[in-house]
Amino acid sequence: MKITVSAIKADIGSIGGHTRPSKEVLDAVSAFVKKGAKSAGIIDLYISYTGDDIHLLMSHKGGVGSSRIHKLAWDAFKAGADVAKSQGLYGAGQDLLKDSFSGNVKGMGPGVAEMEFEERQNEAFVLFTMDKTEPGAFNYPLYRLFCEPSANSGLILNPKLSNGVKLTVMDVLENKKAQFSIPQDNFLIAGMLMYPGRYVIDTVCNDTDPILAATTDRLHNIAGTYVGKDDPAAIMRLQKDFPATEEACSVFKVVHYVAGDTRGSHHMPLMPVKTATAASANFCIPIVSAVLFSMHEGKFTAHTDAFDTPDWDYYRNKAVKKAEFMREQGFVHPATLVPEELEYSKGYQAMVNAARKRFK
Ligand SMILES: [Mg+2]
Repeated sequence: MKITVSAIKADIGSIGGHTRPSKEVLDAVSAFVKKGAKSAGIIDLYISYTGDDIHLLMSHKGGVGSSRIHKLAWDAFKAGADVAKSQGLYGAGQDLLKDSFSGNVKGMGPGVAEMEFEERQNEAFVLFTMDKTEPGAFNYPLYRLFCEPSANSGLILNPKLSNGVKLTVMDVLENKKAQFSIPQDNFLIAGMLMYPGRYVIDTVCNDTDPILAATTDRLHNIAGTYVGKDDPAAIMRLQKDFPATEEACSVFKVVHYVAGDTRGSHHMPLMPVKTATAASANFCIPIVSAVLFSMHEGKFTAHTDAFDTPDWDYYRNKAVKKAEFMREQGFVHPATLVPEELEYSKGYQAMVNAARKRFK
């Protein structure tokens, strides 16, 4: 049975800053999708949030880019944004950049990651969601997962993974994509992924099956001006011919430094958190959550929180320690981003322009 799994996410307002959506906003989005689910052909729905971003995960048979599914998600986010505005939430409706729906939410503000595949007897997959960072935050963990046996011995032990996979990289500035083969192109891939502000992983597949799809929109390219960090999400299929659950999740133990956090203008470590965690008020440490699903005939039979076990507290503490080290750097790069990556680039530019008048 061919099933499509679509993850569509947006920040439509949050409490007391960029923290988390209110219960009323979540309820409004959820109720809207549930009301329209049957006519849109939705088989099952999961809704949650990571920081200020709401994620809709929907299974259906409409294929990738289904206008019925996209329209329902768009209208649900609009309904949620109306509630957010009525509550005076911060950034109410901020990711809904267009006035009217035009067939597909891509390019309209929300992020989309979706895959159509032949459902296996024991279909397992993970939904990764991040806040206070950018799509390139997936680069290093996924490079280690698919390219580095030292990080993932499954690359040696599983013949299907040893044969390699194909990885599509997107140039988010020029809006172009290129496909690379693992392991033949590993160094080329590393060369691209070294700069996560420009080159990001879009999809991963093997010869027959899709494995991963990630959101790759850059909000500032859509809007013409920077309107917020484009917090990413990704769906990854797990087990058997794909990465094992523990391989896919353990690459986030590194808590590597990513761009984002306060004012979208700093580098901080990526901290694994439980689902439905508010953004940290500690300088907005970037966060990632992982929800594991089993699916049968399109039904999400059960889900569990991958970063909920006690051992992940150790990596959360590690992230806080790495955050403290970076914050000791103050305003000096690399604590702050390079000028072109600053979310508040205009403010910084005005400062530089004023200072430069004194140079002779
Ligand atoms: Mg966010």
